Amino acid sequence: MSSCSGSECKKQRSDSKQVERGLVFKKGEKLPNTSFTGNAWLYSLIDSDDTNQNSVGSVTFEPGSRTFWHSHPAGQIILAIDGVGYYQEKGKPIEIIHKGDAVKCPHNIPHWHGASPDGEFIQVAITGRENGSTVWYEAVTDEEYNNFKE
Ligand code: MN
Repeated sequence: MSSCSGSECKKQRSDSKQVERGLVFKKGEKLPNTSFTGNAWLYSLIDSDDTNQNSVGSVTFEPGSRTFWHSHPAGQIILAIDGVGYYQEKGKPIEIIHKGDAVKCPHNIPHWHGASPDGEFIQVAITGRENGSTVWYEAVTDEEYNNFKE
C-alpha cells in the first residue's frame, strides 16, 4: 500500500526522478506564478537565522520558465548546477550561464534569471536578508525573454 496520496505522491515521484537522473538536490515545491513565469520548483536547503542571514535553495526551471524582475537588498549568489540558464540585469544584455558558473547579483539591482528556451536549468541560490527580503516587480515579457543575442 502506498504511504502517500495525491499531490504528495506526485512530489515524491518528481523528487526521486530528479535523484535518479544523478542530480544533487530534490525538485521540491512548485513556485507560485505570482513571481515566476512557467513552471519552477524550489527545494529549500537552509533557512536564514539571526547569526547567518543567508538562505540557500535549489531552484529547477523548466525550459522557458523564469523569475519575474526582482532585486535583493543584500544581493544574491547563483551557482549553476545543471543545464543552461539566462541572467539579466536591468539595462544590460541577457547573459547565458552554464553548469559550473557562479554569478553574483549586486544588491538592489533589478534582474531576473531562469532557464533558456531549449532545456531545463538548475541553480542553487544563496540569498542574504540583511537590509530586507526580495523585492518583486513585473513579469519578464516574452519580448524581453526572447531578446537574447549571441
Ligand atoms: Mn535573484
